[in-house]
Amino acid sequence: MAQIIDGKALAAAQYEQMRLEIDSLEQKYGRRPGLWAVIVGEDPASQVYVRNKENAARKVGLAGEVLRLPESTTQDELLALLARLNADERVDGILLQLPLPAHINKDAAIAAIAPDKDVDGYAGMKQGLTARAGCIAPCTPRACIQLIKSTGIPIEGKHALVVGRGELVGKPVATLLLNENATVTIAHSRTRGLREIALTADIIVAAVGRPSVVTGDMVKPGAIVIDVGINRTPEGKIVGDVDFEAACLNAGYITPVPGGVGPMTIAMLIRNTLDCYLQSISQNNYTFNYDNISFPYTKGEV
Ligand code: NAP
Repeated sequence: MAQIIDGKALAAAQYEQMRLEIDSLEQKYGRRPGLWAVIVGEDPASQVYVRNKENAARKVGLAGEVLRLPESTTQDELLALLARLNADERVDGILLQLPLPAHINKDAAIAAIAPDKDVDGYAGMKQGLTARAGCIAPCTPRACIQLIKSTGIPIEGKHALVVGRGELVGKPVATLLLNENATVTIAHSRTRGLREIALTADIIVAAVGRPSVVTGDMVKPGAIVIDVGINRTPEGKIVGDVDFEAACLNAGYITPVPGGVGPMTIAMLIRNTLDCYLQSISQNNYTFNYDNISFPYTKGEV
């Protein structure tokens, strides 16, 4: 029977660690890492996602704020705001919540974020830069790697199967697994013999967006199964891409949905912000004027 990888508990531990780190960074460098989130329009799901990220930022005591722009915001206005945030030394990370309204060119907006403040790792993803060490890794793929590492089983030399070749998850997670020296197979909708391939995999990452793409009989005994998928059943239940109960019988470790990759993804957003801060501190050794810095995030419960 598989051990459950508890993404919620692992994320909580990360928050506690980062909260302490942020306190000591403030003492050492005179300012807290700052995350600025930009959301355009009223998309209800995006509002929830941003609120969850805001809560996480508050938990660890980041500086920053959420800039809520009306649906009518023009592309030029958004690009001008991003340029201001790029130039602002208090801003370590810029989070641009997607989707954007249809009249704004998403690629142009993403390209307008300074790569060294791009905490979602979009820029690196676009240019295939996740392959380069030291580049900001996108949050969900980074979360997958953390969850695999939490098992204590080395990734190096393992056969990892990534099901899904999406730009946001499948492709970058495959690159990160390669960086960890796994031997990586990427499957997609045209792949033949998925079950046979899966049965040779020590690690399976499912990032498709369809329930039960990975069934229990596809899982090699002892394999690590990371389920990225988020699907709503006709009954309104949230499930992943993996047939969880059946996969538990064969897997060594498995992430649940919800409570696996999702919570860890947000923790990785905060971790990316810390990384951007440390990078900026090591490059520009500037002194900050405390009085000019606002800290709208107050420290809360972890
Ligand atoms: P995506 O860009 O639509 O990619 C889906 C991939 O699945 C495509 O490459 C597609 O193949 C492949 N696919 C479709 N049917 C398949 C099948 N029967 N067998 C094998 N592969 C198949 O989706 P995404 O943005 O990567 O997201 C994937 C899932 O992850 C979604 O459920 C999304 O909600 C979830 N997600 C979760 C988080 C989180 O924080 N937990 C974050 C991001 C995304 P083709 O390329 O051939 O079409």
